[in-house]
Amino acid sequence: MANFYKGARMLSKIESLLKPMIKSCARIKAVPTDFSPEKATEIRFGGPAYAEKDSAVPICKSCGKPLSFVFQFRENSIEKSGGLLQFFYCFSCLPWGGKDEDGQWLVRYFASPANDKFVFENAGTADESIKPSLATIDKVKMLPDFESLEEENHQVIGLCEEVDPDDPWDVYEEACMVMGCEIEPFSSVGGYPIWIQGVTARKCLLCKEEMKFVAQIDSVPEAELMWGDAGCVYLFRCGKHPDEFAFEMQCF
Ligand SMILES: [Zn+2]
Ligand SMILES: [Zn+2]
Repeated sequence: MANFYKGARMLSKIESLLKPMIKSCARIKAVPTDFSPEKATEIRFGGPAYAEKDSAVPICKSCGKPLSFVFQFRENSIEKSGGLLQFFYCFSCLPWGGKDEDGQWLVRYFASPANDKFVFENAGTADESIKPSLATIDKVKMLPDFESLEEENHQVIGLCEEVDPDDPWDVYEEACMVMGCEIEPFSSVGGYPIWIQGVTARKCLLCKEEMKFVAQIDSVPEAELMWGDAGCVYLFRCGKHPDEFAFEMQCF
């Protein structure tokens, strides 16, 4: 019994440590929907990319083929407001986020997108292997994955190990569930990255500071979007340089 009470006490301590770490994010799901111009600025996958009067069609700098428009979202995707960010990718060169891949992928930013500024001629040809889909948005609560706790809050790991030395991540998962937080991989804007191959970070090339995690685009069967073997794409952005982005792909 003494152990039981000790365990319960530690669990409530874990919860109180985790509570201030909870972040809200926009969970993204795809619903296949044909493209039409009034959907130009919507949060969506595939189809023609939103483009304006001066937008050039993005071309891969390595192979010269057009980059595929994959996904676009808003800075504040929960409110569907703020600038529009678009992710383009070369499915011929298959970059994963390493060096010497400049131009094989692109994050493009529009500060004030509007349907009446949409210029269809500049949208480029849609990649037909991606099914045009609108995104549904849910606001969900998130906590970091167990591995990220090493950096985020090491104390929690110690407590989880005390509760169950064999399965500390089980203890953590249970605590997250009790608190109504997601830690399973899914597509999201904001929140925490849920890593497949482990914690990673990117530094801004201009100011050398660590970039902020912006979004993760999971493999999305509904939109027929697959990163390697059910992988996930992580996007980063510099807090000081809004046009500086980085990405990483991780697969199982
Ligand atoms: Zn290419
Ligand atoms: Zn910077």
